[in-house]
Amino acid sequence: MHIGAAVSVMKESATLAVSAKAAALKAAGKPVIAFGVGEPDFDTPDLIRQAAQRGLDAGLTRYAPTPGDRAARLAIARKLQRENGIACEPEHVTITVGAKHAIAMALQTMLDPGDEVVLPGPAWVSYRPLIELHGGVCREVPSDVEDGFRLSPADIERAITPRTRAVLLNSPSNPCGVAQHPQVMRQVFDMLASHPGVMVLSDEIYEKLVYPEVDPVAAHVSPGADPRLAERTVTVNGMSKAYAMTGWRVGYLAAPGDGGRFARQLIKLQGQLTNAIPSFIMPAIVAALEHGAAGVETMRRAFAARAALTHRLLSDIPRFRTAAPNAAFYAFPCMRPCMGLRTPAGRVIDSAQAFAEALLEEALVAVVPGEDFGACAATNVRISFACGESTITEGIGRIAAFTASLR
Ligand code: PMP
Repeated sequence: MHIGAAVSVMKESATLAVSAKAAALKAAGKPVIAFGVGEPDFDTPDLIRQAAQRGLDAGLTRYAPTPGDRAARLAIARKLQRENGIACEPEHVTITVGAKHAIAMALQTMLDPGDEVVLPGPAWVSYRPLIELHGGVCREVPSDVEDGFRLSPADIERAITPRTRAVLLNSPSNPCGVAQHPQVMRQVFDMLASHPGVMVLSDEIYEKLVYPEVDPVAAHVSPGADPRLAERTVTVNGMSKAYAMTGWRVGYLAAPGDGGRFARQLIKLQGQLTNAIPSFIMPAIVAALEHGAAGVETMRRAFAARAALTHRLLSDIPRFRTAAPNAAFYAFPCMRPCMGLRTPAGRVIDSAQAFAEALLEEALVAVVPGEDFGACAATNVRISFACGESTITEGIGRIAAFTASLR
């Protein structure tokens, strides 16, 4: 069978590959600690589940309008206005099969072949493959763990060329576990204000998981709220992370600019690709956005405590350099001082991939190697702390012993 070039050159998701290997070891009875997964370990709050259940019982089993029903789009538009300061109407919103689908459709709608997307890195593994799938060229802008992965407006600006279609922002970031300080984001917005031809794609999926407990300055700000950028910003968000709804597959996208022209094109694309998400989920979106805040806060506090614990334990590992995780549920330490050393079993650590493989085989801890998060992340590993505190303590203890055993 023939496989077209666009898909055959695409990489498999590194995060899914590690999870699969860890799951296989676990199934074989090994006491693996899984720091690989990017999803909350909580169950979806009851009030959200009940709303979907009521939807099913009320017979919401047929096709919904492609971008979602009116009530759910209204709840999302109101949320974006109220919490993010984004001037947005329900007709500018479409509800998607997870945030990943939203990002894929936004890129497909905005890109022509050869268009460039500026991507501050380290960045989530799927951005580059999705940009390239739609004919775009990815211009990565590095940042450094020693600097807390701080965005540099000057570096981003240097990556902008006449072919730049968009800048893709993801604060808080996967994999960095960092929410940019509002003052830094404002500097980025000031810089972007002088590039009126550049669109902004803002992935805000971790916006609610920010920890002033770890970093008092940490806070989320949306580029779509800046009047100079509002017309050309596409905002992506979703229910997966904040509401512990990864398996429900609910994301959304808002493009209020240009009189809703971009949003209409995007919804046209969705009508050909996937149609609407399941009808009975629509009331669950309304319930979550309008009544779910207390449940989110309970989970956020638990994550904040885990973030502080993770940071304290990782900071004690002499061969790691770690930025304080002030958001999301990831730490992304640099393991460069381990490079060139040997494990007790004789493996040579010559990459983050080799480190992660050896750590899994010899210490039974799964982390995600940095390579697929960008060239600037080739000596980092991602540790997800979406698990209990005793698991974090045991797992990072094993990592500390493993790194200390390298010679
Ligand atoms: N953006 C980022 C930065 C993510 O980390 C993820 C999930 N790993 C997504 C988007 C996709 O989320 P969803 O499950 O809603 O598709």
